[in-house]
Amino acid sequence: MKAYKPKRRLTAEQYIEGILKGDRVLLSRAITLVESNLDSDKALAKEVVQAILPHSGRSFRIGVTGVPGVGKSTFIETFGKHLIEKGHKVAVLSIDPSSQRSKGSILGDKTRMEMLTTMEEAYIRPSASGETLGGVANKTGETMLLCEAAGYDVILIETVGVGQSETAVHGMTDFFLLLMLSGAGDELQGIKKGIMEMADMLVIHKADGDNIKKSELAKLQYENALHLFPASESGWTPAVTTASSYDNTGIDQIWSKMMEFKKLVEGNGYFEDNRKRQQIQWMYNNIHEELRRLFYSSSAVQDSLQDLEKEILESRVSPVKAAEKIIAEFKNNL
Ligand code: GDP
Repeated sequence: MKAYKPKRRLTAEQYIEGILKGDRVLLSRAITLVESNLDSDKALAKEVVQAILPHSGRSFRIGVTGVPGVGKSTFIETFGKHLIEKGHKVAVLSIDPSSQRSKGSILGDKTRMEMLTTMEEAYIRPSASGETLGGVANKTGETMLLCEAAGYDVILIETVGVGQSETAVHGMTDFFLLLMLSGAGDELQGIKKGIMEMADMLVIHKADGDNIKKSELAKLQYENALHLFPASESGWTPAVTTASSYDNTGIDQIWSKMMEFKKLVEGNGYFEDNRKRQQIQWMYNNIHEELRRLFYSSSAVQDSLQDLEKEILESRVSPVKAAEKIIAEFKNNL
């Protein structure tokens, strides 16, 4: 049996130096620190993140979404490889709130991006786990900063495409890419209108073999549909293209479109404004998460909750009154 050997605890300086040198082992350990819920780790993580902050931000942050099966991981593999061939360093992160239910994780239960995993210029990190989507998103945000400081200049953040996680990813990226399939109505694809509205680009994916014609048709349909959407604040008209990760077609056009977008929004000030807004929003997200954590970890709250649930079920107290009561108790115990 292998003896358990605890890892030597590193100092903040060691983490910082390692990250700035692009040391992948130290980057991974710093991310683990950021993901930790131990108070002692949290303090060290804050110190590390604060110190690398001036070295972060210099990447293009891309959100990738689409329903399970649309081909996100295959696309990221092909697209990531393409970017690496162009000289970029690519980090792939994901937000998968289902990962909290461990084995039930939507993104994590298959071997993904096998080729990219072996490439020196790619860094792939599966979703953090956590009790809330907000908590997972906050950790991914910090992970993104660490990756930027380690020299990754394209960050791809993948989301599961089944619920609220798209909004979280949209709130931390510069460009939002939605993968779609031809021949399936929006309802079928489970794509909500709100998600289409967030997209800077729709890619009709798997446009290969018998699918090519259908994909071209879908492209026209979506182009028409997008005209009905309100003009976006960025001044950018969402692009629609077709692509196949199998045949490696349409992949370079996607990157060219992204660069076109970047040029436009850097020129008109939207890029900077959007990042600033995201920073402010991120502060609020952290406040919400921390307040939630403080509240539910308070022993006074934990003691009273069960009683109150029972009282509600027995109609002895109204839900609103119960909430008021427990918050008052929390405040008294601060
Ligand atoms: P995800 O769940 O969105 O990450 O999707 P995957 O990347 O796991 O892909 C789902 C299925 O679609 C797999 O069987 C892939 O082999 C297949 N697939 C992915 N990309 C393409 C493509 O470009 N063309 C075709 N025809 N199939 C693809």
